[in-house]
Amino acid sequence: MRAVDVIVRKRDGQALTPAELAFIVDGVIGGTIPDYQVSALLMAMFLRGLTPAETVSLTEAMAASGRRIDLSFLPGTKVGKHSTGGVGDKTSIIVVPAVAACGVAVMKSSGRALGHTGGTLDKLESIPGFRTSLDAATLGAVLRDLHCAFVGQTADIAPVDKKLYALRDVTGTVESLPLIASSIMSKKICEGSDALVLDVKVGSGAFMKTMDEARPLARTMVSIGRHVGLRTEALLTDMDAPLGRAVGNALEIRECIETLKGEGPGDVEAICVALAARMLRLGGVVPSLDDAAARVRRALTSGAALERFRALVERQGGDPGVVDDPGRLPRASRVEVVTAERAGFVQELRADLVGHASMILGAGRERADAAVDPAAGVFLRAARGDRVEAGDAIAELHASEGGRIDRARRLMASALVVGDQRPAAREPVLAVET
Ligand code: URA
Repeated sequence: MRAVDVIVRKRDGQALTPAELAFIVDGVIGGTIPDYQVSALLMAMFLRGLTPAETVSLTEAMAASGRRIDLSFLPGTKVGKHSTGGVGDKTSIIVVPAVAACGVAVMKSSGRALGHTGGTLDKLESIPGFRTSLDAATLGAVLRDLHCAFVGQTADIAPVDKKLYALRDVTGTVESLPLIASSIMSKKICEGSDALVLDVKVGSGAFMKTMDEARPLARTMVSIGRHVGLRTEALLTDMDAPLGRAVGNALEIRECIETLKGEGPGDVEAICVALAARMLRLGGVVPSLDDAAARVRRALTSGAALERFRALVERQGGDPGVVDDPGRLPRASRVEVVTAERAGFVQELRADLVGHASMILGAGRERADAAVDPAAGVFLRAARGDRVEAGDAIAELHASEGGRIDRARRLMASALVVGDQRPAAREPVLAVET
């Protein structure tokens, strides 16, 4: 087989066979197909698309490019969770201990902040001492004892994705539905779970800006899951405004602790309960979604989820004292407020711009190798729909340098729209694909 023939067939709009897709993936991993041919094929895939069958075959070939984690030593059905990423999206840190406290095992592998979106690993590592790279024996023991753990994505899981993503990033081919779906699902297939709940974010702060873009992505990933034997359900959730009030690593951990105590913002709790309830049902511990949601809420109000989180923090090397005293989390040396210029209703708090402001403050990364400031970020004192008076504080900007605050302030001015009409309420959970 020759790479050029595969490129020509895709260029001409033909469907590639599983053997052709496996040949390409092997050639990328083995270094026998040069980057210029892979890039040409990615562009042909971007322009011509992939059929559902091709998307499944590509995903399977990508999954086969590396190792598969074995979680069979854990009892019951293991259920994974994945979010397509957003601003203030801290749900994993709440859902994982809550689900484990309700009897379903979950090993969560997560990424780091990039661009305007945050990363679960950076958030957790703002807890003094917390480690997300555990040796195999420690990880096994934590999972056995607590039925949950947080780990970083390792290079041996679907390794071809890293190479393909790097080429997509520089060839304008990231925004392809089948390439996004196969990229995400190839990694999830290898993470050892028997079922998966996806949180597909929709809105200004998400990859997918509209329901028309997000729904087909959710459907495609659910369908890939069905074909490869990974039972998958997807929630489509709002990411037009940041989730909750806190955007930034330590600030978000505080909000997670509040939510784990049953005292979190309504939107954070609603999405966490919806995700966790689906995970419990897929895990086979509660047959009805309503009963599963009630069980999750009980875990939040009874302290069971919080205790699981405290134990997890301790076993992963972190300071469990932060649970009772969040004042032990890093704090920024400078905090300044953004105020409303006029009275009215907060009509918009654009998630992408708030996320960008948080990155400028130091909470995120412009480049993958940059460091983050665990204390930096934005805390929203007002939410979309709130009534404010001129001069009211809308947001706090947390940083270690005044220059960063000045730049972030300019972005916040564009993120915030105050007007006369109260905006229509947006439901946190917009739709479900099963
Ligand atoms: N997340 C991924 O893992 N891959 C993509 O292609 C897009 C988002």
